[in-house]
Amino acid sequence: MVKSQSAKKAPTASTLTKSGARRRIEQLRRGIEHHSFHYYVLDSPEISDGEYDRLVRELRALEERFPDLVTPDSPTQRVGAAPSDAFATVRHRQPMLSLANAFDEEELLVWARRVQTALGEQRVEYVCELKIDGAAVSLTYEHGTFTRGATRGDGFEGEDVTANLKTIKSLPLRLRVNRPQALLEARGEAYLPVSVFETINRERAAATEPSFANPRNAAAGSLRQLDPKVTAARPLDLFIYGVGAADGIDVRTHHETLTWLKAAGFRVNPHTARCRSLDEVMVYVREWTRRRTDLPYDTDGVVIKVDSLAQQAELGATSQAPRWAIAFKFPAEQAITRVNDIRVYEPVRVSGVTVTSATLHNEDEIRRKDVRIGDWVIVQRAGEVIPEVVRVVTERRTGHESMFSMPTTCPSCGSTTYRPEGEAVARCTNLACPAQVLGRLIHFCSRDAMNVDWVGPKLLAQLLQRTLIADPADLYALRQEQLADLERMGDRSARNVVDSIAASKRTTLARFLYALGIRHVGAHVAEVLAAPAGTLDRLLQASFEDVRDVPGIGPTIAESVTQFFRQPENRRLIDRLRTAGVRPVAPAPIVSTGPLAGKQIVFTGTLSNFSRSRAEALAKEHGAVVSNSVSKKTDLLVAGVDPGSKLLRARKLGVRVLTEREFAKMVGTRAG
Ligand code: NAD
Repeated sequence: MVKSQSAKKAPTASTLTKSGARRRIEQLRRGIEHHSFHYYVLDSPEISDGEYDRLVRELRALEERFPDLVTPDSPTQRVGAAPSDAFATVRHRQPMLSLANAFDEEELLVWARRVQTALGEQRVEYVCELKIDGAAVSLTYEHGTFTRGATRGDGFEGEDVTANLKTIKSLPLRLRVNRPQALLEARGEAYLPVSVFETINRERAAATEPSFANPRNAAAGSLRQLDPKVTAARPLDLFIYGVGAADGIDVRTHHETLTWLKAAGFRVNPHTARCRSLDEVMVYVREWTRRRTDLPYDTDGVVIKVDSLAQQAELGATSQAPRWAIAFKFPAEQAITRVNDIRVYEPVRVSGVTVTSATLHNEDEIRRKDVRIGDWVIVQRAGEVIPEVVRVVTERRTGHESMFSMPTTCPSCGSTTYRPEGEAVARCTNLACPAQVLGRLIHFCSRDAMNVDWVGPKLLAQLLQRTLIADPADLYALRQEQLADLERMGDRSARNVVDSIAASKRTTLARFLYALGIRHVGAHVAEVLAAPAGTLDRLLQASFEDVRDVPGIGPTIAESVTQFFRQPENRRLIDRLRTAGVRPVAPAPIVSTGPLAGKQIVFTGTLSNFSRSRAEALAKEHGAVVSNSVSKKTDLLVAGVDPGSKLLRARKLGVRVLTEREFAKMVGTRAG
């Protein structure tokens, strides 16, 4: 499980050998990519921001120590995540970057010193703003009329969410300016007021739907609804804090920009302050660290920006963030509480489910933090709902605390448990164990899997208890009358449940594979497997070698997949699902002719005419299989500017190297 990586004793950057660092870097990158995908694309994080930030910091420290191990596709070199396919893609006229972080006052001072050094004798003034915890948006106005709104996406390309943004009442559809610019791109944060966030989560819990982990994910989720009516039902609001591409606005400072934006009709946060010195910045930071909870919306820090636009231009930006701004992150909110019990459950990866008790997600973590039953512990929440146990208050131990031991029998069904080698959790051996059956059903219906709306953990538990279902195939035989008698279920809800179960029959092969809950097959691996296989039958017939030879799949996954399909009870379940009408459709047809058809391709370096995700998508459309690393199986390497170690490796292995222009020609697009 990727989750357990954060819990293992992290070897520090200074103690690792180069080969150890390489392995750890790979492991961290995989973990971070997994969590970014859950956070940015699915809007449903699996770990707290604190844990995520620790993984990123560890990776940065290792990359700083071993700079030649930095690759352009490392998560430290990227912003956000690629836009999803559900919306049209929008290319930003100017990249929408992230912000560098300062986690304490010392780091803020280091940043300020660096700015001052770069600007020499010049006097530096700042603007302080609250860092609103929502989703970044870009709003395009042409001749004063709102024409398009987009999410940040990977910073280069976002999603076109114009219709959803139009539901925000404070978004001006026309600007209040006399002579509107031909083009103006305003940037800001769409957010959900805390009260709305809480109401939404209460409603979702009542409808047995998974709740959102934090207001930011809820805002991003609302903004990325396919049906604008759903967005309209969740009143988002907006604060604008800057300008992207624009024709002729006569301003010299950031502060003047904000004043201009306000006059043009945008909602600008009122708690913005101009600070003439670093001392004033510190006063602002301390004041808002204290007052942050007084506001009706969530903030996770203060953004400090150099005020002069000329100085901003002089300072420039890295590939990830401007050098003229920094986000001071508020310290996580901590509380002290007592551990009454450590409960064990089969860890299921259920997208979107928020753990409401503190997470101690595996035995290693309990051991590492030495948490005992009866201990007082410090838990922390950093804006999000998933709190984590920071440490035990050992001073408060009385000697009556008891050590926790992973039970040797399953707390749900009494069968023996086992802990597979290299894993941090004990598992029940009984396939028919009720807790496992429920876990598998929840996973089957979850958003990334069959995406069965209206069917959440509570409803599934009731259905199991009343023996209306025993496995996923039974869901498809449920009738509205059977459901209508259940707790909190009226005719309309029963209808909705039956309809969404029926709607889930048409799904993609990747979702179906993921829904089956095969060990080691997460959403991403499922996609990697589905693309070359095309049909379920081909996968069912595939040998261990066939699966292992799929680029990006190793022997562990191949073993797990083929084992799964070999089990007669799994074959029976798949047959029953198909008989019930479940039709996993193949992904878009693979192009079988052309220079890229069937080729394994890897990208390295920065491309000037495509974002990485666009280039990868084009390669896939032309029948290529995109992989992250160069191996003997690689056919082509596309090398952009500043290629990393992949180029060396490709040369060593005799892999054909293409320039961006050659690649563009192959996919029929002009470049450069
Ligand atoms: P960020 O949120 O730290 O900062 C950049 C963003 O701040 C901008 O894109 C903008 O949307 C926003 N912002 C708000 N107010 C602003 C203002 N006044 N001026 C300028 N920008 C303002 O960076 P990020 O790259 O969007 O996200 C990183 C965060 O996401 C981290 O806190 C990280 O912990 C979290 N994260 C968590 C997980 C997880 O699994 N828990 C995964 C990925 C990322």
